[in-house]
Amino acid sequence: MRGASVSLTGLEKSYGRVMAVAGVSLDIRSGEFLTLLGPSGSGKTTTLMMIAGFQTPSAGDISIDGASVVAMPPYRRNIGMVFQNYALFPHLTVCENIGFPLKQRGVPKDERARLVGEALELVHLPDYGGRYPRQLSGGQQQRVAVARAIVFKPRLLLMDEPLGALDKQLRENLQLEMRRLHAELGVTCILVTHDQDEALTMSDRIAVMNDGKVAQIGSPEDLYDRPSNRFVAGFIGQSNFLPGVVCGAENGIVVAKCEGVLVRAMTSLRPAIGTKVTLTIRPERLRFADRVVEAGPTVNRMGVIVTEAVFAGERCRYLLKADDGTSLVLKEASSAAVRRRAVGQRTAIAWSVADTILV
Ligand code: ADP
Ligand code: MG
Repeated sequence: MRGASVSLTGLEKSYGRVMAVAGVSLDIRSGEFLTLLGPSGSGKTTTLMMIAGFQTPSAGDISIDGASVVAMPPYRRNIGMVFQNYALFPHLTVCENIGFPLKQRGVPKDERARLVGEALELVHLPDYGGRYPRQLSGGQQQRVAVARAIVFKPRLLLMDEPLGALDKQLRENLQLEMRRLHAELGVTCILVTHDQDEALTMSDRIAVMNDGKVAQIGSPEDLYDRPSNRFVAGFIGQSNFLPGVVCGAENGIVVAKCEGVLVRAMTSLRPAIGTKVTLTIRPERLRFADRVVEAGPTVNRMGVIVTEAVFAGERCRYLLKADDGTSLVLKEASSAAVRRRAVGQRTAIAWSVADTILV
């Protein structure tokens, strides 16, 4: 099976004065696993509901495989759906629940039994067909919900926080299972989540949403290593922010003065000299540099004082204060061989120019 391609063009939805979705344009490729990631209220569910057909756009267009579906009722769009609170029918067995969309589509009984059996195998629950939902764990119920969403072989699967109610271990197992299912079925998946780890683990690409708009779209590596704005840098992973003033730029590298220290950063922009900018660096990309590391074309360096030191098992986390007063977080893999830093110690940090991004 080939998954559907989906295009959103200038999609908007307003409720009175609230712009829930404020102009979203996205092209989702056939067979892609795309995640809409963003804080609560950023318009993720509303976007998904418009694709499903349960909400009508105020403006813009949605097309599936090149044909607009805006005027098409939900049942004709042939989309599979899994929601956090999209409960199973409590009075139907697992088999009857999974067979429900087939019955709705008038699939004959024998064929239905065969397809339900296949779907149960796919979600690794072959022996659970006769049980009722209340006789299943939360994770098993969600797997039945997934089986029900894929049993009629939709080319597009929409999932809204499907693992939100489950504990961490189970979530992580199911995330891997969903990836496997996605690869096996070739179905295009659009997942909604507010959980960045889930988005990074599962997605081919992530569209980060904020205030009804897409703040950035890209692969997990793109978003983590090259955030294009401060919102994305702060929402995905942890980031340090250094304020500075541009004093030179060439070949995609900008030199900024951050309170007396020259810092080089990567940029696709050409900011004018004198522009106030913010540079961002991930805490685990900073390292202590006791021996004198000279700052140069590929390395930045700055003097700091350790103001807090926390041992957190696999990592040590340090709070540092730069000479100008800016606070920075540095994370270091812990090792019995590495001497821990004491609060009050004056030292220096160094980090790669490639890990310094202008946002
Ligand atoms: P998310 O799924 O990212 O948490 P939603 O799409 O549910 O966000 O909501 C986006 C915004 O639209 C929020 O401010 C929410 O309060 C508002 N909203 C959503 N649905 C409705 C509705 N039916 N009526 C009025 N406002 C709504
Ligand atoms: Mg939501």
